Amino acid sequence: MSAWTRSRPLGPSLREYANGAVVVRSGLEPREMLAVLQAIEVAFGRKRQGQRWRSRTLDLDIVLWSGGCWADEVLMVPHREFRARAFVLGPAVQIAPRWRDPVSGLTLKHLRARLTRRAPPPR
Ligand code: AMP
Repeated sequence: MSAWTRSRPLGPSLREYANGAVVVRSGLEPREMLAVLQAIEVAFGRKRQGQRWRSRTLDLDIVLWSGGCWADEVLMVPHREFRARAFVLGPAVQIAPRWRDPVSGLTLKHLRARLTRRAPPPR
């Protein structure tokens, strides 16, 4: 499990978020894991409000899977947007820097470095 980090929300939500990453060892298939994660979200009081960026109590995503890629009508692994999100890559690098994204072939450490480099230099 990574340390918790704080991030500003994407979109119109006003609250800040606490972000973290965990490596979970499990015999579940990705779809079964998604069902478990969604049950946990419900247990934490999250309501699906129809609007994507509403404030939420808990958001659990599957970022990577040791089995490689998964894609069906409700689930895509690796997570579609994780390569562009510092609040995902930061915590993930703490616990699995050498884990390789099966799509780009890059490690989490490399993906995070690439993201940081893209930011304009401070003036
Ligand atoms: P959101 O709560 O807005 O992040 O969206 C959750 C929905 O995204 C879930 O109900 C899934 O159907 C879908 N989804 C697609 N890929 C993933 C993933 N890698 N991890 C979690 N949810 C995913």
